[in-house]
Amino acid sequence: MSSRSSVFFRSTTFRLTAQYSLIFISSALILFLLAYSLLSDAVREGDRLAMAQKVREYASVAIKRGLPALVEFVRMEREDFDADEYYLRLDDPSGQPLTQVTPTDAPALPAELPRDLGPAIQWAFLPRPDGEGLIELACRSLPGGATVYMGKDASDRERLLKQFRVIFAGIMALVALVGLAAGFLLARRTLKPIQGLIDTVRAIDTGRMDARVPDEGADNELNELARLFNAMLDKIKSLITGMREALDNVAHDLRTPATRTLAAVEMAASTKNDAESLREALLDCAEETRRMVSMLGILMDISEAETGAMRLHLGRTDMAALVTEMTEIYQYAAEERGVALVVTPMDRLPVVADADRLRQVLGNLLDNAVKYTPPGGRVDVSAWREGGAVAVCVADNGEGIGADDIPRIFERLYRADKSRSKRGLGLGLSLVRAVLYAHGGTIDVKSAPGAGSRFTITLPAAPDFKAAPA
Ligand code: ADP
Repeated sequence: MSSRSSVFFRSTTFRLTAQYSLIFISSALILFLLAYSLLSDAVREGDRLAMAQKVREYASVAIKRGLPALVEFVRMEREDFDADEYYLRLDDPSGQPLTQVTPTDAPALPAELPRDLGPAIQWAFLPRPDGEGLIELACRSLPGGATVYMGKDASDRERLLKQFRVIFAGIMALVALVGLAAGFLLARRTLKPIQGLIDTVRAIDTGRMDARVPDEGADNELNELARLFNAMLDKIKSLITGMREALDNVAHDLRTPATRTLAAVEMAASTKNDAESLREALLDCAEETRRMVSMLGILMDISEAETGAMRLHLGRTDMAALVTEMTEIYQYAAEERGVALVVTPMDRLPVVADADRLRQVLGNLLDNAVKYTPPGGRVDVSAWREGGAVAVCVADNGEGIGADDIPRIFERLYRADKSRSKRGLGLGLSLVRAVLYAHGGTIDVKSAPGAGSRFTITLPAAPDFKAAPA
């Protein structure tokens, strides 16, 4: 067998074809067998009823009036007996025929016939003595050991049934062919989305990332699989694009401090014996290097938090105290910028979290709020219990964020164009979101240009936290 055909016989298409065809063909076979058995019963029933009735009549004469009376009864009946059709024989207890009738042009029944049959009617098929067909026989024993046989030539009937069998076999062969073809088409149709899937994976393997499984539009599991697969590919593509962009941004953002470091080093190298210039160059190098180290550190923190690898030092801590502590720290920067930083007094809000990481989260939100609010503006900070969670809101009436920027501000290194003039790495909100994610928390932003921004974060409340009485 060639390897191509052996692959086909191992394929799912072949197995499905075989299963579908088997179901189809066996159902058709069962139907045909049922129809044939009903037909043959119907054809045989008429003859059998007539013969059984006659045998019962003879038995009743023999029982009521004895064997000689039955012989006489048969003799008298001979005139109107349908001699063209039926065989009749009455044997005495020793098996010798007392009387017999044979259809015209037919040989007599064989001498040896079954005996001691009991009082119930028995059915048997005998070959005609001249070998030209079959005789169906109804027979029973009579009181005293005699036997009555009633027979009819069943050749025509059996020939007809045989013809039916041949026709049925022919139809069955046709049905089997149709079943195989239908099974194959059905299997191909069922597996079409899978074939699409295989073709798509092959295309992607050869570098065509935009290949997608064709959507058949049907509402079934395989199409659902194809749709999910396409959605997964879209997601992978956007992740790869995101990663590329992030890498480009990292390269771009690292280039500036690296170039500055290089310039400082070259300057220092060209300065001869000027200790002050050398010191300045070294400080510049240290500053730029710190910037790079901090950026790489935050990027690693974000990756760890997003992949669940961030090591959190969890402990019971009071969110209200953390909010107060952090706003106090940013009070100075706010005053310097001429922004009012106002905290709504709050009760204890226990959470189980990494306090240092939460300080980072609050610090970033407060830093942004103060940074992106012009002098004379205001930042409001509040925290409260909300169902099973603790929420903190940092709201400012600063410059706000454009609708196009809102979905992107949590991406690594993304900064809205107008923010580029302010200090920052574009990593703060990515880290905030990743740390909250690692804590099972959420972040939500409502903002519009000129109308200020409102960042709300939630964290699961400590399990044993009972709301303070009102
Ligand atoms: P950055 O270092 O630029 O502040 P972030 O990740 O903290 O980076 O924020 C991403 C961008 O989201 C910012 O560049 C800014 O455009 C926007 N943004 C964040 N917070 C605010 C805010 N309170 N008001 C206006 N814009 C904000």
